[in-house]
Amino acid sequence: LPDPGASALTDADVALMLPRPGVESDKYRRGVVGVAAGSHRYTGAAVLAVGGAVRAGAGMVRYAGPAEPVAQVRARWPEVVITPLEPGEGVGEVGRVQAWVLGPGLGTGPEALAVARSVLASDVPVLVDADGLTLVAENRSLLRRSAPVLITPHAGELSRLLDVPRSRIEARRVEYARRAADELGVTTLLKGSTTVVAEDERPVRINLTGSSWLATAGTGDVLAGVAGALLAAGLGPYDAASCAAYLHGLAGRNGPVSAWDVLSGVPGAAREVMDRLGEDD
Ligand code: AMP
Ligand code: MG
Repeated sequence: LPDPGASALTDADVALMLPRPGVESDKYRRGVVGVAAGSHRYTGAAVLAVGGAVRAGAGMVRYAGPAEPVAQVRARWPEVVITPLEPGEGVGEVGRVQAWVLGPGLGTGPEALAVARSVLASDVPVLVDADGLTLVAENRSLLRRSAPVLITPHAGELSRLLDVPRSRIEARRVEYARRAADELGVTTLLKGSTTVVAEDERPVRINLTGSSWLATAGTGDVLAGVAGALLAAGLGPYDAASCAAYLHGLAGRNGPVSAWDVLSGVPGAAREVMDRLGEDD
């Protein structure tokens, strides 16, 4: 392991954390996740982040975005509840959600900023990824909120957030994941060849299930959706990030894979983890 204070996630850890529907569950109790992602230019990121959330077992996925990604999400995911947003509009009217995924393909202009402001003004956990990270790097005050924030940067995105060269972060990934958690007051999932999960006052967790086949466009968007669904299901950001990284890695361990293959592999990965613990439900 890259750090003596860090522990590697195991099947048993993840199987114990993964939420399972109880006999009394309904879709609201299982978790409603909102996805604020995608733009005129980047429609695929919305489809993939939504797909990660759907395939991770969300009770309901709500998608809010501009017309172009709305059309794509609608075509690919009939189970998703959609709210088209006018330019400059926030997510205030989409209905109740229990956690938000903010940022994949969102863009970084004024319209994206309006969406980011509205999502981060909510009182539920928010996962911030990709363009959402660029927006919060430029508008630090957005991170001042009482509900949890989970950030999911790769080294380049963390480099902008901490103002530290990317090469330094690559060389000391555990240290900088910890520093991000500490300085920004957020839970940090640092992506790369190994994934590091850091939260204040918790031991750093390392995920080793992935493979370099995951280094392909769109897999990060899928990861954001998976983690968002687990946040909405009620896992804390530290556990949601850990389980998401583990399942996403399992789903991408045998390549070549596309981002679509990874999201399609998530349910099987969850099944596999639960089965290996000898469960029959
Ligand atoms: P992104 O950087 O947002 O495109 O996300 C890429 C995803 O692929 C993350 O989940 C990374 O952890 C994973 N990934 C990228 N490169 C590697 C690698 N060399 N080995 C294992 N996983 C990787
Ligand atoms: Mg990304």
